[in-house]
Amino acid sequence: MNPFPIVAGELYAEEVPLSRIAAEVGTPVYVYSRAALERNATAFRDAVAPLGDPLCAFAVKANPNLAVLRVLAAQGFGADVVSGGELRRARAAGIAADKIVFSGVGKTAAELTLALEERIGQINIESVEEADELSAIAAARGVQAVCALRVNPDVDAGTHDKISTGKADSKFGVPLAEAVEVYDRMATLPGLAPCGVALHIGSQLADLAPLERAFTRLGNLVTRLRQKGHAITRVDLGGGLGIPYRQGEMFPSLADYAAMVARVTRSWDVRLIFEPGRIIVGDAGVLLTRVVRVKRGAANPFVVVDAAMNDLARPAMYGAWHDFMPVRASGARMVANIVGPICETGDTFATGREIDRLESGDLAVFRTAGAYGATMASSYNSRGFVPEVLVDADRFAVVADRIAPDAIMAAERVPDWLSDDAGQAR
Ligand SMILES: *Cc1c(COP(=O)(O)O)cnc(C)c1O
Repeated sequence: MNPFPIVAGELYAEEVPLSRIAAEVGTPVYVYSRAALERNATAFRDAVAPLGDPLCAFAVKANPNLAVLRVLAAQGFGADVVSGGELRRARAAGIAADKIVFSGVGKTAAELTLALEERIGQINIESVEEADELSAIAAARGVQAVCALRVNPDVDAGTHDKISTGKADSKFGVPLAEAVEVYDRMATLPGLAPCGVALHIGSQLADLAPLERAFTRLGNLVTRLRQKGHAITRVDLGGGLGIPYRQGEMFPSLADYAAMVARVTRSWDVRLIFEPGRIIVGDAGVLLTRVVRVKRGAANPFVVVDAAMNDLARPAMYGAWHDFMPVRASGARMVANIVGPICETGDTFATGREIDRLESGDLAVFRTAGAYGATMASSYNSRGFVPEVLVDADRFAVVADRIAPDAIMAAERVPDWLSDDAGQAR
């Protein structure tokens, strides 16, 4: 199944020509394929199904759109959330509270309270300080928080520094060397019901070896905790599996991942939790854009598109590659720098990229934009927020409106004491 096929020379999303979406919704716009979301969700679920009855908790931060979450909820997915806002989204999308896991180093008292009110399945505690605070909040409410301890296994995930989360100097989790001591303490706190351990070492991992090292260390921790009398019933293995962004890149298969997990966890006797994000939504989306103009340049021409770093931050933020292809290929080729309109040089999607020749007004897409795309958008340069569309066979719906710059401006106020002075020289 190709969710973005070329039909009679034109790029489609499932059975809908992208040119039709551009005409009706405008550009730039994110376009997601329901079939691709369901295919990816099913593939993941099926791959890990032999590992007992694991919980697949979609990492909401990868794509928090309500319609996307609804599709995944219908596939039996729970949610890994990292803020109160994500928790509310997961619930609003119909994800059962007991399938929600809450991660993050900076959960506020209000967010921890919300998690208790909603009776979510598990809170992943990331510090001894958080354990104390959560216990106090829960005890004051007369409840016990079902929680796991997130550990930092000190492995180098071999990915971009900004999305590595399991090295010793990372802010996430507690160091393995302190984990037993912290868990001992958690077990004595009146407001906590600790049930296991968790980790997440980073994102866009190209290799299973760091994951295997981390899981092995986690298994050793489970043994030590049990020796101390703790009942460990759950282990959360996080997310992080990488996906190809360039034609021809090779990544570990889900089958290889599941086989590795089976080998490492064989004797653990726990319920496993997975938190996949990117691998579920990444290739299910594209960012559709229109060429504003082609400007001559010193080395290469600049293809200036109407999407920018505020709509898709990954290239500016991580130096990430997104394949770029025209909606209707001209047949001719060009080498170009692909840039957005934003007033900083960081607003560059590609440099010296060989692409199909494009002209002003042509449509094109950045591929594999379903993960960490729209969710990382901003309104920098007073641009609006980019809309999102979900395609289902021959129909589509706008699942997030474009938020116009005027709507953003409407939330701002000029205080009276500034307006009083308007135009008056001082
Ligand atoms: C970001 C994140 C994930 C998902 O990572 P992917 O690389 O998108 O699979 C899972 N768990 C936690 C705690 C995260 O922060």
